[in-house]
Amino acid sequence: MGEQIKIACGVFGAISFQKQSIFPLLYWGLRVQNHRGHQSHGFLTYNNEKFHIHRSLDLVPKLKTSAIQEWFGRLPGHVGIGNVRYTTSGKTDEESLIKGTQPVTASKNGLKLAVSFNGNVVNTFQLKKEINKEFPSFSYECDADLICHKLLIELRKGKDLSSAVETCMQEIEGAFSVAGITKDGRFFAFKDPYGIRPLSAGRSKDHLTYAFSSETVGLDVNGFERDFEVEAGELVTVSKEGFRREKLVNNRRKAFCAFEFAYFARPDSRFDDKYVYEIREEFGRNLVRENPDVVKDADVILSLPETGDDAALGVHEESGLRWERASRRHRYVTERAFILLNRERYSTIDKKINILAPKVKGKRVIVTDDSIVRGDTTKAIVKRLREMGVKKVYLFITFPCIIGPCFYGIDMATYGQLIGSKHSSEEIAKIVGVDAICYQSIEGFMKATDFSRNQLCLACITGKYPTPLAQKIADEMKKRFLKGYEERGRLYEIVEAVEKAQ
Ligand code: SF4
Repeated sequence: MGEQIKIACGVFGAISFQKQSIFPLLYWGLRVQNHRGHQSHGFLTYNNEKFHIHRSLDLVPKLKTSAIQEWFGRLPGHVGIGNVRYTTSGKTDEESLIKGTQPVTASKNGLKLAVSFNGNVVNTFQLKKEINKEFPSFSYECDADLICHKLLIELRKGKDLSSAVETCMQEIEGAFSVAGITKDGRFFAFKDPYGIRPLSAGRSKDHLTYAFSSETVGLDVNGFERDFEVEAGELVTVSKEGFRREKLVNNRRKAFCAFEFAYFARPDSRFDDKYVYEIREEFGRNLVRENPDVVKDADVILSLPETGDDAALGVHEESGLRWERASRRHRYVTERAFILLNRERYSTIDKKINILAPKVKGKRVIVTDDSIVRGDTTKAIVKRLREMGVKKVYLFITFPCIIGPCFYGIDMATYGQLIGSKHSSEEIAKIVGVDAICYQSIEGFMKATDFSRNQLCLACITGKYPTPLAQKIADEMKKRFLKGYEERGRLYEIVEAVEKAQ
């Protein structure tokens, strides 16, 4: 229900062999991915052996025509990377947010690197120790700093890019989808051995410009053709001849984030060959097949825009029930405004959407939504529906019940924050005030995505983490949670405390 769950980042990078200015591509590639991170944004271009950087807070801005030449001047070059970020690691005061904005750079003794990254590092404590030995004044602002410095350390040992990246893949635990530029302007991208976060590769129709983008919408907006999804454990470099793909680590187990399908990714993005909206429609059809009795007892379907819309269409198609467009978004109320007001969670939903009473009064409604995290936004919406005279409320939730935190770049940090970690679905239904909650089954979810159990990360819904330290931390956190210890809010603090205690 539009609970403001945050993801770590969105990445875009491109190179033009026509020697055209890369900035416009970076700008649009990031602007359409602002849903992946809206606390800060950054651009980095490479020209004449120099990195040129612009970093700022908030959304990627609208550019005034009069300022465009100035932007071109500030960010020259035909290769560049960019990032939109929401912080799931590092500090959150304004100064730290700016410092932690990506892309980041690292340099020593003539070697230099820049990276833009999406994900979250789990073994931060161990990596910081190693980096501090080489860089005594190393200041950790975000996980991208760890990736960039670790890669530089490996290159300084005289390794080529492939072996340096291979060592990073073996020694860094977590999710990392990275685009980077070396000192001599070489453009590359790689993914962790589990392939947890998305990163797609594409090219212009004339095959003179190549790009990497967290989501395919970043390629579409630039008129590029999608070529392939960078694979888990793969390094991709780019030259005039095209992409060069090297599989450096070959894990049988993959772990692409299942939550991307339900919530984060834009519906018009593609992972492999399917659009996200097609998968979400299938989620809706599944929920109907899995809950025939509820469907029989309902009059209409509602969705709360926008992540519930595609599932609502699927519910409508499979059940034949009317899909009422009973809620309208206040178009110019921005996410930013919502965040500023989120201390009063119960009333912010009124500021975001308007529900049309005549469409729901006296009805038994199925409400489709992507997920329930804390439950407070759901509760507020259900309360509004009841006030409008809705007779019965059933929730169809496309993502199975979230029972554990995420260590791979989604801001669901503690067990205490998750209503599903301590309550059954019957109890949750009571707490949020609905007649029943129908979560999609894990099997149904997987089938709709065309991914199998050993290709997806399902950790937050099964408690089984794909990487070993994350599993240890989760088990330890759960033990403490069950004993009633107070949980600390930010993930990086918890992880460090547990990692230090190892
Ligand atoms: S734990 Fe959940 S949110 Fe995190 S990567 Fe895995 S599936 Fe995605």
